[in-house]
Amino acid sequence: MIPTAFDYQRANSIDDALAKLQAASGGKLIAGGHSLVPLMKLRLSEPTVLIDVARIPGLSGIREKDGKIEIGAGTTHSDVAGSALLRQVCPVVAETAAAIGDPQVRNRGTLGGSLAHADPAADYPAAMLALDAEIHMKGPKGWRKVKATDFFQGLFTVDLASDEIIAGVQFMPTKAAAYAKLHQRASHFAIVGVAAAVDVAGGVFRSARVGLTGATSHAVRLTAVEQALAGKPATTDTIAGASAAASVDDLNSDIHASDEYRRAMLMVFTRRALEAALARA
Ligand SMILES: Cc1cc2nc3c(=O)[nH]c(=O)nc-3n(C[C@H](O)[C@H](O)[C@H](O)COP(=O)(O)OP(=O)(O)OC[C@H]3O[C@@H](n4cnc5c(N)ncnc54)[C@H](O)[C@@H]3O)c2cc1C
Repeated sequence: MIPTAFDYQRANSIDDALAKLQAASGGKLIAGGHSLVPLMKLRLSEPTVLIDVARIPGLSGIREKDGKIEIGAGTTHSDVAGSALLRQVCPVVAETAAAIGDPQVRNRGTLGGSLAHADPAADYPAAMLALDAEIHMKGPKGWRKVKATDFFQGLFTVDLASDEIIAGVQFMPTKAAAYAKLHQRASHFAIVGVAAAVDVAGGVFRSARVGLTGATSHAVRLTAVEQALAGKPATTDTIAGASAAASVDDLNSDIHASDEYRRAMLMVFTRRALEAALARA
């Protein structure tokens, strides 16, 4: 289908994007367009004005700041996947980005667009949960930041107002983390995707964070698994036992996988992500 008619404007700064959003009734930000344009073609979204944020200087880039890693919202999946810094200090993020879609999607799609869109099968949300990332945004009332655990709230629903722009994310670099996903063969979206980060000292799991995507209406932490690991010996036996505790209510059931299949795969991919994270500890 052909989208409804819209105007196009290009923002040259975050404040310019916010001003353009305020001025336009029914305006919407566009970054890579790989989620928004398909929605517009289906007429599920009918913005009157598209405000392009893809070329805002400083909105993209990956840097270390105050001991944390900061990724700008406009950074493409391929730039995240290819980041030497991330590969060195926090490889799970680069690996998650590399697992998204195909080269065309990775070359255009952005971190901020993915987080704002919050497709239930998107990959980044699992990694952001496992890393306990903060999402930074600006709106008419100024700056605010939201923990990933609070950001993803429901199906395509996040803690982001329609007059706000995501500037980027921040998280502590974590080497002992990994992402494992069962993906749809055509799109590469997650049927079940699990990101795990572990903190191991003296042969014991001090703590773990496990993020799940693809299996429910929105990405969630697998807290029962996290609790089953804490304080236990850092072994594959402990991981096998804890992964058996991986369960969530209201599993998705669709043409790609039934809820029963997702339930079974949830445990398998939780174990794989945890084993890969432990191997890096
Ligand atoms: C064929 C195909 C396969 C795909 N496979 C995968 C996959 O395997 N895994 C995966 O995770 N994703 C996949 N995607 C989705 C892809 O990652 C998208 O690029 C991403 O979800 C959206 O990013 P974008 O920059 O294209 O956002 P856009 O489409 O431009 O925007 C999406 C939404 O985000 C808003 N937005 C954009 N930037 C900002 C910002 N800075 N602040 C606030 N709001 C903003 C827009 O207003 C819009 O509502 C696939 C997409 C396609 C078309």
